[in-house]
Amino acid sequence: MKKIFLFSVISAMFFWECSSEKHEETGNVFVNAQWIGGGDMDMPLYAQYLTVFRLSWEVSAEGRDCTWVKLGGGDERFLNKYRNPWHLQNDAEDVFVRVETDTKKGEVRFYRSGMQPGENGKTTQRILPAPALKEAGSHRLELAVAFGTTDVSVDGKKIGTVNLNPTRGKMDEALRSSGDFLTYPCLGNVTCSDGISGVELRHFRSPQNLIAKVEKPSDIQSGKSLFEDRSQLQLRTSFTNGKNVKQATLYISARGIYDAYINGKLVNENAYFCPGFTQYDLTHLYQTYDVTEELKEGENRMEVALGEGWWSGASTYSAHNWNYYGDRQSLLARLHIVYNNGNTQDVVTDPETWQCCSDGARLSASMFQGEVVDGRRPLFDENSDWHQAVAVPTEGTVVEGEDYNRVELIPQDDAPVHPIDTLAALSCTEVRPGVFVYDMGQNCAAVPLVVLKDQKPGTEIRLRFAEVLYPELRQFGALQGEILTDNYRAAISQDIYICGGGKEVFSPRQTMHGYRYIEITGIAEALPLEQVKSIALSSLDGITAHYECSDTLVNRLWENILWSARSNFVSIPTDCPQRNERMGWSGDISVFSHTATYLSDVENFLRRHLRSMRDTQTPEGMFADVSPMRREGFGGLLWGSAGITVAWECYRQWGNLDLLREHYDAMVHYMDYVAEKYVDKETGIIVQGRGWGGLGDWLSPEYDKNDHSLLWECYYIYDLDILSRVSALLGKNEAAAEYAALRDGRKAFFRETYLSAKDHRTIFSSFEKEKKAQPIDTQVSYILPLAMDICEGEELEALAAHLVRLVESNDYHLMVGFIGVPWIGEALSKIGRPDLIYRILTCTDYPSWLYSVTQGATSIWERLNAYVAGEGFPAGNGMNSFNHYSFGSVGSWLIEHSLGISRDTEKPGFKKFIIQPTPDPTGHITWARGHFDSREGRIESSWQRNPDGSVTYRFTIPQATKATVILPGREPQEYEAGKYEITQ
Ligand code: BGC
Repeated sequence: MKKIFLFSVISAMFFWECSSEKHEETGNVFVNAQWIGGGDMDMPLYAQYLTVFRLSWEVSAEGRDCTWVKLGGGDERFLNKYRNPWHLQNDAEDVFVRVETDTKKGEVRFYRSGMQPGENGKTTQRILPAPALKEAGSHRLELAVAFGTTDVSVDGKKIGTVNLNPTRGKMDEALRSSGDFLTYPCLGNVTCSDGISGVELRHFRSPQNLIAKVEKPSDIQSGKSLFEDRSQLQLRTSFTNGKNVKQATLYISARGIYDAYINGKLVNENAYFCPGFTQYDLTHLYQTYDVTEELKEGENRMEVALGEGWWSGASTYSAHNWNYYGDRQSLLARLHIVYNNGNTQDVVTDPETWQCCSDGARLSASMFQGEVVDGRRPLFDENSDWHQAVAVPTEGTVVEGEDYNRVELIPQDDAPVHPIDTLAALSCTEVRPGVFVYDMGQNCAAVPLVVLKDQKPGTEIRLRFAEVLYPELRQFGALQGEILTDNYRAAISQDIYICGGGKEVFSPRQTMHGYRYIEITGIAEALPLEQVKSIALSSLDGITAHYECSDTLVNRLWENILWSARSNFVSIPTDCPQRNERMGWSGDISVFSHTATYLSDVENFLRRHLRSMRDTQTPEGMFADVSPMRREGFGGLLWGSAGITVAWECYRQWGNLDLLREHYDAMVHYMDYVAEKYVDKETGIIVQGRGWGGLGDWLSPEYDKNDHSLLWECYYIYDLDILSRVSALLGKNEAAAEYAALRDGRKAFFRETYLSAKDHRTIFSSFEKEKKAQPIDTQVSYILPLAMDICEGEELEALAAHLVRLVESNDYHLMVGFIGVPWIGEALSKIGRPDLIYRILTCTDYPSWLYSVTQGATSIWERLNAYVAGEGFPAGNGMNSFNHYSFGSVGSWLIEHSLGISRDTEKPGFKKFIIQPTPDPTGHITWARGHFDSREGRIESSWQRNPDGSVTYRFTIPQATKATVILPGREPQEYEAGKYEITQ
């Protein structure tokens, strides 16, 4: 069965196919089309945003003893005091890193100027001995710069590493606790003395292709950079078509991201960042557009702007991942025209009929760094240097040794990233002279939309973004009130628009920011509020759940969960939308997927993600802790388990056996891998070493109190349980029995190893040798075994009592991290103590869910104490996102327990389901209501405590479905479709 959905907000008709069967082989829709782009000298170069590169040059011992090259010249961040943490305001020529080569002494000397208070380039930062320089002849010096950490080599031999980044360990008091990860220097202007030749700029990562080269720098005027910037790559073609077009269909994909225009009209107007993020060496998406309306009789033109996207450029927290997939963008497209008389015509990408240019109006388009646009010119400029495009093979443009021959091009069958809301600015404050900060009221993944009127042509408008402002606290000194960008780390996240005059609208399309505040500079006076907007972006196509209750703080928590889900379902499930990560961390989606399946119909999205997890699974069977991208990890079993849990959550919500079928082998492979590699042969304990990593209850206030191996064991048991059920569902009964037996064996092992014989308290195993048998006694150590049905009878009761004790002794605070958070409500509901989870839910001081709400949060924070009033950022800003969905995993409890709308485990897919509401026994919350839009229709549930102590329950069961209704004190009862009200 295959349905075609028409995406509601798409103007140019974007189709995605929804198939309940395995992704169908679509045949080659790109017949005769080739991947095309530009040559080496068309690769984008924006020196102010390039922070990872290789710069090398020849020095000769003849002539001069001492020669120099300057890089990082004129770094714009130091030319304006409100753009760097030290409030430095320098002249362009006073900002640089100077590298001197002394062929007489045989040394390389480093000087820095203008990047720290008091720095003037006269003091040597570092001297590296380089005796080879003394030898006659010429020598090649290379700097391999990665966020400032610089490997230096002479004639191919490394002579040392120098840290050119002034922020590492040298920041002032307020910043030391912060990111310590701001990235300097950028390539900036590069200049040199006489005696230097053959200056080469290359990409850092394999295959280290040449970006630019200057043979004889003396030809360059002094002061001017040796290298000229190059814009994003643009492609164009023209074609003639006849009358009576019946249907024109564009199939299109890119290495990088595309925006495609036909006769000036943007085809993918409401679809951002296409084709989307996949493990590109194995899976590559394409999109299909009906463009019949865009064609005209006669001459037509097609133009495409290619951004770096996830293919190349800045990527992840590691400098070494710059250009992760490949070093240049390319395009694959076929426009298929069918005429009324049955004739057809194809316009395909090939080097002969397409031209490219790299001097267009969009000067930079980077996901992390931002977009730079020259509004004085049309996006595609006739006057650019258009020249013949070239075929772009993967060989020689992707990392050496990577095999792209197995790649499958498949149509996207989930929603593209698209606008979900337009947010208007709520206020504007001139925080410093000429520095205007707009509060958009909502932290989210977005791009700005700014309307400018009658700015002088050439005026440079700069937009910077932040989730929070520096608090009014003395420790932040002169920074108070300014936007805080430390927690973006190496993501520069800044857009620049050069005005063309008149009325103009700037809204970037090939970058994204995670923010609530927009700082605008370059304007003489504040823009009126209605001229500053945010376009919130997400892959979520609508929200399918609602929760509301008498506590307005809990309602804001629900909103925050929704916003963090929207912001982190952006092509892939990410950890955060703002800093230099935005990665598909497995642990995060593992814990959040249960909630996500209620919030939106994400089956195809998650199914695609499971494909990514298979694509990154190692040959040994490990699910990576980041997908797409890594075939490695340090997350360990709690992260890798996403390969099991996400599939299971999808099945339980939508009942699609095909999804399990296509993923089954990978699950089995994974479980075998764990058993073989990580179950210690002698002790039976799960041990995770360097190869896999050992994360535990991530960001729990009690993180270090735990024996992580207990948590791994629980998840291992849970994974085995899932696999045994999945095997049974797929008719693999033998395997089902085997996994069930293994699971039961591990349960017994858990009880022997991790529970004290005396009182069943959780205790350390021999994994933590010196702590063996000592009590662990943390909330999470009881929550997991309770929620995952690991214990029974007397033991279960003892575990329950311990958890109750810990909840009470911690005064109803949330003492868990990512791993415990989705299970805490489950466990407390299961042991019949919903009063405790309601108390934890409504607790407002740290650590709790509502603490962030009381601090003004508009999204879920990565840490429960990301910000503390009166104190600042207790954990620093090095890893401090204000938009991480993991702690929002309580969402499933609100729907399944508070409202009581839940899946019937025996019958997934909501043809039949359960209604079992839980009114707050503490009386704090007096009513709750909400719904879940299942594919079968809207299921509503509410409860309300009446003044006489009775409770009124209302629920709606959609047409053609049934529900088992379980109300307190009553026997479960089957209900048919209808609306019901019961007071008892
Ligand atoms: C990410 C997390 C992730 C973790 C694992 C962080 O930097 O933001 O959400 O799961 O790393 O170590």
